[in-house]
Amino acid sequence: MTMRETDILVVGAGPAGSATARFAAAAGANVTVLERRSVVGDPVRCGEFMPSDEEIASMFPGADNLEELFDIPAHLRVRELEAIRLITPGKKVYDLPFLGYSTDRDRFDQHLVSLAEKEGAEVLMRTTFLGLRNGVAETSAGPIRYKIIVGADGPGSRTAQFLDLPANQQPYPAVTAQADGDFEPVVSMFFGGLAPGAYSWIIPKDGRANVGVGFSPRFAHDSPRVYFDRFVEREGLELLSGIKGKYVPSQGPLERTYTDNGLIVGDAAGHVMSVNGGGVPLAMIAGRVAGKVAAGNVANGQNLAAYEQEWRRLMWKPLRTALGTKKMADFFAFGSDLRTGFCMRMLGKRRMAKMIRCRSLFP
Ligand SMILES: Cc1cc2nc3c(=O)[nH]c(=O)nc-3n(C[C@H](O)[C@H](O)[C@H](O)COP(=O)(O)OP(=O)(O)OC[C@H]3O[C@@H](n4cnc5c(N)ncnc54)[C@H](O)[C@@H]3O)c2cc1C
Repeated sequence: MTMRETDILVVGAGPAGSATARFAAAAGANVTVLERRSVVGDPVRCGEFMPSDEEIASMFPGADNLEELFDIPAHLRVRELEAIRLITPGKKVYDLPFLGYSTDRDRFDQHLVSLAEKEGAEVLMRTTFLGLRNGVAETSAGPIRYKIIVGADGPGSRTAQFLDLPANQQPYPAVTAQADGDFEPVVSMFFGGLAPGAYSWIIPKDGRANVGVGFSPRFAHDSPRVYFDRFVEREGLELLSGIKGKYVPSQGPLERTYTDNGLIVGDAAGHVMSVNGGGVPLAMIAGRVAGKVAAGNVANGQNLAAYEQEWRRLMWKPLRTALGTKKMADFFAFGSDLRTGFCMRMLGKRRMAKMIRCRSLFP
């Protein structure tokens, strides 16, 4: 039997993998995507909040042509949202205007993968990347020969491990479920001992909401399930689904994200905002860069270092600023409800609005 061959092998059909595959295929490369799940995006393990294009542009001003990436069809914009509401442990409320929408992440991811397929990428479902041996990818569907491999396989990336690239340190557990009810069109984020070192959330959808809890293991004493159940009880939420969980990178972007013939992208590369755990827009922005550079390498030997240079130009500064803010919060604000409430009052609305946009708090 002849071995399967491809120019670019993308591991993972999340937002990062689909964007990589779409732009690599559009540039003329032969692209194969491996996805271990049987249905893309299912089960959903996400808060399902997407900032508006304007908010993404304001946080990452270097990223151009955002419409190309974020032209998300109306049926996937489940509910338009107007603000982010930060709630202190003592229930003081700060409403920060912030435009965005909630989506159904399973259908959202399926849409992104369909764009990659339209460009000619081949997607192999129920196919798990197992490792690398002698420059060949071992998968559950047999070995695959490739020119470039792209690890878009999430926070615990196996691809990064086999490429000898760094791994995310101290990821935060986060769990989510769907709840019944009509909520105001604001994202609510609850701080304090209910979600030590991070926050619990209610993100409204149509007649329901995505609800969840994320926390820092450093400040937590109980399991995700215990924190989640406490939150659900305190807010009187009526669940429509079981809970699902995953890890969220918490330490900002990784320092090294490419080798001679491999890249890591999205959560695998720590492309997540440490102040709020959001990563979908970044996975897509970095995926576009990865796809174009990988295709350039196949077509004319473009150095893969160009990938790292470009994503650093686009997102290094805001992501490092967000990490700095998170570290300050770990030191001054988290660990006691009293301190958390005090720090939120001290920061006030203006500085917290900067914080959620990954900007420096001072001046
Ligand atoms: C509870 C929770 C809530 C969140 N809420 C939000 C939010 O509201 N907004 C936001 O922007 N971000 C949110 N995030 C973060 C966001 O989900 C991630 O940043 C985003 O999914 C990253 O996309 P990705 O493509 O890099 O990785 P993923 O979406 O994790 O995709 C990785 C894909 O790779 C596949 N895979 C993994 N290993 C293998 C393998 N060995 N072989 C084959 N396939 C493999 C997986 O099945 C998966 O489909 C949240 C995260 C969590 C955990």
